[in-house]
Amino acid sequence: MIRIDVDMNKCQHYGQCVFEAPEVFHLDENDKLEYKAEAPDEMLADLEAAADVCPMQAITISRG
Ligand code: SF4
Repeated sequence: MIRIDVDMNKCQHYGQCVFEAPEVFHLDENDKLEYKAEAPDEMLADLEAAADVCPMQAITISRG
């Protein structure tokens, strides 16, 4: 499994991560980011892309 952590003090809810990995990240009806804390290993590339694209560098992913 891959563990996902978003520093919500940094996140500005821009939503770029949502485009890269919509299975994990999504914006709620108030445009606030929601995300899953775990995802299967097959999603690593998408999650790395989401972490790379985040303008706030708020996303941390780790294998666990
Ligand atoms: S790309 Fe980064 S700043 Fe934007 S919503 Fe996702 S985690 Fe938050």
